[in-house]
Parts: sequence; C-alpha cells; structure tokens
Amino acid sequence: MSLYNLEFQRVINKIKDLKAENVGLQFPEGLKIHAIKVADRIEKETGARVIISADPCFGACDLSDKKMKGLVDILVHYGHTPLPLDYAIPVLFVEAYSKVEVDKSLHEAIKLLQDYDKIALATTTQHLHLLDEVKSFLEKEGKEVFLDSGKGSQLGQVLGCNFSSIKKVDAPAYLYLGSGNFHPLGIKLFTHKAVIIADPYRGEARDIEEFADRILRIRFARITRSKNAKKWGVLVSSKEGQYRMELAQKLKALLEDKGYEAYLIMMDNISPDLLLPFMDLDAFVVTACPRIALDDSHMYKKPLITPQELEIVLDIRKWDDYQLDEILLE
Ligand code: SF4
Repeated sequence: MSLYNLEFQRVINKIKDLKAENVGLQFPEGLKIHAIKVADRIEKETGARVIISADPCFGACDLSDKKMKGLVDILVHYGHTPLPLDYAIPVLFVEAYSKVEVDKSLHEAIKLLQDYDKIALATTTQHLHLLDEVKSFLEKEGKEVFLDSGKGSQLGQVLGCNFSSIKKVDAPAYLYLGSGNFHPLGIKLFTHKAVIIADPYRGEARDIEEFADRILRIRFARITRSKNAKKWGVLVSSKEGQYRMELAQKLKALLEDKGYEAYLIMMDNISPDLLLPFMDLDAFVVTACPRIALDDSHMYKKPLITPQELEIVLDIRKWDDYQLDEILLE
C-alpha cells in the first residue's frame, strides 16, 4: 500500500469528464514506483491509453506538458502544486498527500520548542493537509501559531526554490513538518531563527542548527576554492520553471567585467556527466534549481556554486549575508 494518497477516483473522474483518450502521467522520482499501478488502473477504468514520462522530475518547474502536447489530452502530474507557468495542455495536479502519522514527531518537537510561545509553521506539498492538525496540537500546548502564504506558494508551503511564505512571519521559532533537511535549512538561513523539524517518517524531532553549520562550512570551502577559478561555466537549464537566461547573461557579463572568462552552457537536466567534457573550465555557477549546488555539489569535480555564492567570490556580497538562491516566478 502506498504511503501517499494517489487519489485514483479524482483522477479517473477527471479523465472521464474530459473524455480523454490519451493520458500523460508524470511523477517525481520518489513516486515513480507507483506509475505502473496508476497507469493500469486508468487504462482499465477509463479505456484511455496512458503514456508515462520517465524523464527525471523534481518539481512543477519541469512538467512534460510541452513534450506531450499533441500526444495526450491531459497530463496527470503527481507530487507538486502548480507554479505560475503557462501549461501547454490541461494538467491535473495530484498533490500525493502523505498518509504518515505525525503524533509521535509532534510530541518530540514540542519538547524542543518549550522555550517559545510563538511558532511559525511550514511544510512541503505532501503535508499541507496536516497543517490544521499541527496548528491545533500546538495551540492546545499553549502556543500562538503563525502561517503565511508566499508568492506562488500556498499557506505554510515552502519549495526548495521559494521560501517567500516564511519571510514575513514574525516568530522566534519555526516548526517544519516533513523529512529531509533542505527546506528547514532554507528557513534557518533566511530567518536566522530556531528551526525544529518534526519528521513523521522517523517519528522524531531535531534542531536544524548542526546541519546548517555543516552545510555552511562546506559552502565556505566551495566559495574559497572558486576564488582561484579563471574560467567559468554559467549553467542554464532549459526546464521551463528553471530557465533563467537573463540572470545567466548578467552573471557572464559580471564575470567578464571582473576579468574572468565565462561561457554560457545550456542543458535540460544539470548533471556531473554532462559537465565532464568542459575540462577547460575551473568552476561553474548554476542558475537552474537552487538545490543542485547544495544537494549535489559533492558529485561534481569542479566547484559548483549559486549566483549568490558567486557574488561572495567576487566580493560583491559579504559572507555574513549568505543566502540561498530562489526562483520566484511571477
Ligand atoms: S526549481 Fe528546484 S526546488 Fe524549485 S520547483 Fe523546481 S525542482 Fe523544486
């Protein structure tokens, strides 16, 4: 049984309503294991033919709508909420809400939040439906709870490239519900407040502080190494929601103004293998998904840094003003 709500009935109803004969299916990496089961059910219950996208997908920034245009009547996209992009065909977004129990992790988290009366809440798409439950829990514990929506994000939602929902909230501590460290790291770096993770998958809670210190040390090392680079690659992804050619051109001009060589390099999925042939280059700055430089940098032989980190390399930004990169779509 899936840990996620795949909302079969909503999907089937939508396909029948549209009288769709051909259906595209797209999943993020963690949910692709359900693709065949979902395709089978759609084909059996609607008679439609399904095409599954197997390309890597990490966000709603990277839909298969353009590639599947003319092939399918609707794209069913699992695991993300829509971004303000123009989709080429009808898209049904299925959030794939997690069915995980949160009680244990919340009881652990409250112990780490005992010094705080005011707490801001944040989570990712898979747990948005649990925010009311978490809010009630905290209120019963005597806490005042704050939630905000951001630019292109829902109430309490953070994306790896969009932390706008937490920036205006005035609370001394944040409770992040979910697994993984990247999103709470972002909250920590943007707010400099206490950030406690309630991880329902492990049934535990933890403070992000130590992880944030470790990541900052790694980033400092990458930035220091980049200062020796003479020839730069400025990476642009052609994925619609990650495409920032204008920024890449500005970075190239900036590097050239400072006396460096800089080359624009465009690809769909940024990966270490695709950069191997560019042996002449000493370092890369990536304008695509902000997670690439932080999550994957150990996989790259040459330093791979964000635009904000390049500003530190070029002495335009101070290390004390370190910030994650964001892609805030209008
Ligand atoms: S750019 Fe990165 S963090 Fe933002 S939606 Fe895409 S994959 Fe997620």
